[in-house]
Amino acid sequence: MPRVAVVGGGISGLSSAYYLAERGIGCTLIERQARFGGVIDTERIQGCVLEAGPDSFISQKPWALQLIRELGLRDDVIGSNDHLRITYVVKGGRLVPLPDGLMLMIPTKILPLLRTSLLGWGTKLRMGLEWFRRPAAGALPDQSVAGFVAGHYGQQAVDYLAEPLLAGVYGGDPEKLSVASVLPRFVELAQKYGSLTRGVLHERRKTARQAKGMPLFQTLKGGLGQLVEALVAQTRPAPEVIHGTAEALERHPAGYRVRVNGVWLEAAHVVLACPAYQAGALVGPVEGELAALLNAIPYSNSITISLGYERAGFRHPLNGFGFLVPKKERSLMVACTWVGTKFSHRVAQDRAVLRCFAGGEDAGVLSLSDENLIAGVRRELEALMGVTEKPVFTHIARWPRSMAQYTVGHAGRVRQIESRLAGLGGLHLAGNAYHGIGIPDCVRMGKEVADRIAAAEPRP
Ligand SMILES: Cc1cc2nc3c(=O)[nH]c(=O)nc-3n(C[C@H](O)[C@H](O)[C@H](O)COP(=O)(O)OP(=O)(O)OC[C@H]3O[C@@H](n4cnc5c(N)ncnc54)[C@H](O)[C@@H]3O)c2cc1C
Repeated sequence: MPRVAVVGGGISGLSSAYYLAERGIGCTLIERQARFGGVIDTERIQGCVLEAGPDSFISQKPWALQLIRELGLRDDVIGSNDHLRITYVVKGGRLVPLPDGLMLMIPTKILPLLRTSLLGWGTKLRMGLEWFRRPAAGALPDQSVAGFVAGHYGQQAVDYLAEPLLAGVYGGDPEKLSVASVLPRFVELAQKYGSLTRGVLHERRKTARQAKGMPLFQTLKGGLGQLVEALVAQTRPAPEVIHGTAEALERHPAGYRVRVNGVWLEAAHVVLACPAYQAGALVGPVEGELAALLNAIPYSNSITISLGYERAGFRHPLNGFGFLVPKKERSLMVACTWVGTKFSHRVAQDRAVLRCFAGGEDAGVLSLSDENLIAGVRRELEALMGVTEKPVFTHIARWPRSMAQYTVGHAGRVRQIESRLAGLGGLHLAGNAYHGIGIPDCVRMGKEVADRIAAAEPRP
């Protein structure tokens, strides 16, 4: 029986442990916190399900739902209420709905685009003329998301569409984010058609057929914490769990050894399912170049601030999923979700819940006190939504250095990381720093690591 140590009990590490067990391989799971789940953390307050971290996963990517099915939780899956989906973007201090027919920042319907006050006439004209763009000769080099989108649709499409949409997902700067890693599908379309609009419309019938009846987002009735609980309970053989920080990693005749709580643990395989900078710190003494590459992956910070209100007398109609605040208009808040509209089963009948996000690359916001954070978002909610009501509960979660940033050249750096890793043997990486930031990709990476270990250790 090979000994496997998994460092990190977030969704990536838990998925690795689960799929290893499915392949008959037990492991030791090392998690520095008393709880599992990493940034997935569900709480209940006054009958409301509060997600301190992620609230759902995108339906288009199958791996999270597959795992949920395997865990017997299919009946608890709920979809986003897409018939109520309106997303607003702040412009000039007001909430303006995103025009109908946008695929991220790609327009697919003319009239809503013409009517929106989010974009000026120059941008609308430019977006229309993009239709005539021809494919460039040869492969497109990686570039920033901002450069790519501005090249197709102009700077205003970056400022009021791409930046706020991506800030919600990555908490990052589109001037730095890599288009090849963040929007790979759009790069393919640009390569094939020249025009993104033409490409999307051309391929839409296929996508529409695949996506038919699928909500945009899915989650669990009781919150994503249900997934974590089921993973911990149903991983059989159950992993040996050590709650402690993996402090050091060394080569050893058995493969590797990891020091936790001052004690060395030997393992033929070590899965580093912790953030890349933690993996880098551990790998340093084993492979300096690999550590440097891991440490070069930047991270941004995130804070969720949930406010619960009495439903009776709450004046705003909450007619949509919430709003995004473009950098140009931002002081504290990056986005706000109107929880009860986006998902059923989350908010008690007599409550309304607003889930606000702050954060980004500047860590300064993490040091704001709870009082200042709440006062700040309440000020902004009053200015934007007219919410003057006093919350009956609040909940704040700070997630320092939690969102890996796929900056320009990311794919090349990950290739270098993987080729160095291949030279080592027995050392594996999983997590949101490599091939996808969302929960489905983290599950997939956990599963792939389990497959690689199982392939390296054929069963009798
Ligand atoms: C606020 C927020 C909202 C998000 N919203 C969504 C969403 O709606 N949908 C979506 O798909 N994705 C969302 N994401 C992204 C997604 O949730 C994460 O990318 C994913 O959950 C990361 O999982 P992970 O296991 O790779 O890392 P983590 O969850 O960061 O887990 C890593 C674990 O490793 C442990 N650890 C670290 N170092 C050590 C060490 N040396 N020794 C032992 N243990 C260690 C940590 O304690 C932690 O438990 C969101 C992320 C955040 C922060």
